[in-house]
Amino acid sequence: MRMLLVIAVLLASQARGASVALVQPMVADSLRLLQHLSTTRVGDVELVRISDLARIAGATRYWRADVRKVVLKKDAHKLRVAMDNRYAVLDGTAMNLRAPAHGIDGEPGIPLVAVVPVLSALTDDRFAWNAERREVEVPASVALQMRPPSAGAAPAPAPFEGFAATIRPIRLVVLDPGHGGLDAGSIGAKGVREATVTLDIARRTAKLLRARKIEVVLTRDRDRTRSTIERAQIANGAGADLLVSIHANSSWAADAEGFEIYCLGEGRIPETKSSASIDFVSWDVAQSSHVARSCDVARAVQLSLARELGLRNRGVNHAPLPLLRCANLPAIEVDVGFLSHPSDEALLGTAVFREQVARAVAAGIEHYGAADQEAIR
Ligand SMILES: [Zn+2]
Repeated sequence: MRMLLVIAVLLASQARGASVALVQPMVADSLRLLQHLSTTRVGDVELVRISDLARIAGATRYWRADVRKVVLKKDAHKLRVAMDNRYAVLDGTAMNLRAPAHGIDGEPGIPLVAVVPVLSALTDDRFAWNAERREVEVPASVALQMRPPSAGAAPAPAPFEGFAATIRPIRLVVLDPGHGGLDAGSIGAKGVREATVTLDIARRTAKLLRARKIEVVLTRDRDRTRSTIERAQIANGAGADLLVSIHANSSWAADAEGFEIYCLGEGRIPETKSSASIDFVSWDVAQSSHVARSCDVARAVQLSLARELGLRNRGVNHAPLPLLRCANLPAIEVDVGFLSHPSDEALLGTAVFREQVARAVAAGIEHYGAADQEAIR
């Protein structure tokens, strides 16, 4: 006997707290529940809240703030997920989530690509993901046990206490002034050199951060040549919390202007990156477990630059930049303007503007660190 009903429950729409339930008759082979999943994108990774997963699987969740791990228990199964780690442990065996778990909205999130394998493993049943409808197809046996999200009768699960509290605050920053020595980087029509501008901004930023009791290491403190590998080795060896590489852009497009921030991502290296800075590198995996945090920092610095500078905001972008690929710590590149654009070049040629940029970068780093500190209190 076929059941001819599928109940589609739409919930957790992007608006906070809004949940809409609707019953939609459809023809299907069996009773299934179509569960809409809202996701949050952090860098290249789409994440799903762990509490949504626990509810769908009918699993109990436990949060261990001391080791930053969330545990889901369902019947005889146990899944342990560590934050910022792509390997979970399912019943004592490693399970590749294909991207690191990361916090979203004050709770752990796991990559969308891992949702179906995780749900299927926890319930010993077959789930499927409908990418077009953004819905998980929940098998009948699990669906029948599921509590409707609107029922409200379930006791609220324990919150993720101290979730943000154990994020390491920013204590030591490596600043990397792009180019230098034999490599001048971009040179503007009026002769402003990228290598000179980046060194000056890095020195000013260092001074401001040190005044705020944040330690700073510079990958170069004078006009000297440094390879990408050397820069990465300095950053990785410093025991730092953050690497900020400072550059200026250049483009054949005469109207290209403004600032932008990069964190690691897939795709091509943009035409605006000077080819002189691109060495051969092969440390692809170094940055992978830090990308989510890098993007958080990138957003904080972007906000600060947007507030402090009158430049066009080109946003946070993702590209496989060599230094970011090699960095084994949260890392961003800040591009402070286009030397190929007359007004950006004129600004970058003045100490007043470079000081403004330094202040904005330092404030962005400080705001990001302060957000962490606030969570600790
Ligand atoms: Zn550059």
